[in-house]
Amino acid sequence: MNLEDTLLMMPGPVPVAPRVLRAMSKPMINHRSTAFSDMYDDCRQILSDIFNTKNDIFILSGSGTAAMEAAVGCVTKPNDRIICIENGKFGERFKNIAKRYGMTDPLVYEWGDSIDLSQLEEKLQEGAKAVTLVHNETSTGILNPAKEIGKLTKEYGALFIMDGVTSLGGDLVKVDDWNVDIALVGSQKCLAAPPGLSIVSVSQRAFDVMEDMERMPYYLDLKAYKKSAEKSQRETPYTPAIPLFYALQEALHIIKEEGMEARIKRHCTEAAAVRAAVEAMGIEMLPDLNEYSHFSNTVSAMKAPDGVSGNDIKKDMLARGIVIAGGQERLSGKIFRIGNMGNVQPKDILLTIAELEIVLKKRGILSRVGPGIEAASDILDKL
Ligand code: PLP
Repeated sequence: MNLEDTLLMMPGPVPVAPRVLRAMSKPMINHRSTAFSDMYDDCRQILSDIFNTKNDIFILSGSGTAAMEAAVGCVTKPNDRIICIENGKFGERFKNIAKRYGMTDPLVYEWGDSIDLSQLEEKLQEGAKAVTLVHNETSTGILNPAKEIGKLTKEYGALFIMDGVTSLGGDLVKVDDWNVDIALVGSQKCLAAPPGLSIVSVSQRAFDVMEDMERMPYYLDLKAYKKSAEKSQRETPYTPAIPLFYALQEALHIIKEEGMEARIKRHCTEAAAVRAAVEAMGIEMLPDLNEYSHFSNTVSAMKAPDGVSGNDIKKDMLARGIVIAGGQERLSGKIFRIGNMGNVQPKDILLTIAELEIVLKKRGILSRVGPGIEAASDILDKL
């Protein structure tokens, strides 16, 4: 398979624009120089708008999981109770990270199910240091109610740590309005940069809690990031992945040129088109929604139709040059997922749907090709 002819329609890494790839071939620079500091500042400025925050923003050399660990590790003492909300694989990951640092009190749902806010409130009444949430649960395609959870968490005086790895840069996130103390994102998802960087925003409340910590992670010490980012330095504490910073800066400029409002509208419309297409094919979505949850606007998770495994659909699509995702762990074989993160265009959605219909027809699931493309194009034409 020629990788250059392959279309990535998975929930990250996502296709990266040629100008972003070219940016990575620029010469290395001193990371203790004005050139680096200016690039760092420029990125942080654009990211503040994407996060909708006045909080400090730092860029870590490490994937999304590094930022998850920084967030939890910098505010959690061994006897602290952390409420970890889990309704998918990444909620579970937050719980597993929190277990290494403190006492977890998991609020667990079947993967794909919705969160019951009254159960969260009951747990908060018992007192907690922090709540962890995955805003857009990539493993199941559900969008969790971050705003409502932020409100509850603030009411009970706990910190709100939110993974926005697959929402920030593609869907609406309002860090300040939603009371998110630590929000984080990875570079390879909706920001459409290569993998390897993550970004965190940190509130004053979270920094206050850090003052009281006896032990902090070393490489992921967010206080060290704050100190280095201050006006006199405008740097990262350790050597940053400079080529990835070049790429991120270029990717952020693409976002700025499109504008966040248009970008969010594009993501929402494309995900709606995927949902309409699969519905027209008689395929069910995985998430079981309640009044507070929504389908993800950046990744759609569908139940594999009877008689075919999600992994076979993924394999057949790959043979036709399109990379989609299957289910992870307990969902393996049961679902398949289509991402629309970053700079995915309507024509990419249409091609993916057309190929999906062909694959399903060849497997005897569909009687004809067409209803999905028609349903998707009706929605995409609104863009
Ligand atoms: N959180 C979510 C919601 C994700 O989708 C992912 C990766 O897919 C991660 C965290 C982990 O990020 P990374 O693989 O960049 O460490």
